[in-house]
Amino acid sequence: MVSSPLPLCAIYGGTFDPIHYGHLKPVEALAKKVALHQITIMPNNVPPHRPQPEANSQQRKAMVELAIADNPLFRLDTRELERSTPSYTVETLEQVRREQGSQQPLAFIIGQDSLLSLQRWHRWECLLDLCHLLVCQRPGYTVSMDTAGQQRWLDNHSTTSVEELHAAPAGKIYLAQTPLYDISATAIRQRLEQNLPCDEFVPAPVLQFIHRHNLYR
Ligand code: ATP
Repeated sequence: MVSSPLPLCAIYGGTFDPIHYGHLKPVEALAKKVALHQITIMPNNVPPHRPQPEANSQQRKAMVELAIADNPLFRLDTRELERSTPSYTVETLEQVRREQGSQQPLAFIIGQDSLLSLQRWHRWECLLDLCHLLVCQRPGYTVSMDTAGQQRWLDNHSTTSVEELHAAPAGKIYLAQTPLYDISATAIRQRLEQNLPCDEFVPAPVLQFIHRHNLYR
């Protein structure tokens, strides 16, 4: 176990439409690997010009609450859901930094697919000034960046040292060996639409909520 005067906490953003084991299991393993003190799940508000989640904000929030109710590793932060503006991760991280100060080690968790598209994110080049990036494996994706420049950026910031993640407040990319879960929210929504079982993909209380509210039909 890594001892640090300031514990390493992480934020995990996404649409969570619905939250599923592909979100939860890899990051639980990641938390053990890098000694994360807490993971804050932060569902995002989807801007009007993008395809809207099928479940509304309150429903997505309720499903996250049900999924993490028994696990103190997780907490929920609804600040992005409560905004009517687009959820830009960089702006949220700047806000969190103002709250927590510049020395608190802070990480943002993404799957491999998100790493590959990261350079399309708003002000992506500022992200590592604000946080570390912890990358979970995702079936069907490898970490092979599109351009030599992107690969150089990745190589320059990558670390395999958990100690480094705890020693610095931000700036590192850690590619974690996490268990593979071949699940996406899209596939789950399609299965529900076709009346196919989803018990192995979605926590039972979340599935009960989905059925009770007739979601994804
Ligand atoms: P959708 O199918 O609706 O696009 P999704 O299942 O990819 O959704 P999101 O809420 O968009 O889920 O993703 C939030 C974060 O979780 C992203 O960083 C994504 O890479 C990661 N993630 C989602 N599913 C998996 C999975 N099966 N394994 C690893 N990471 C995942």
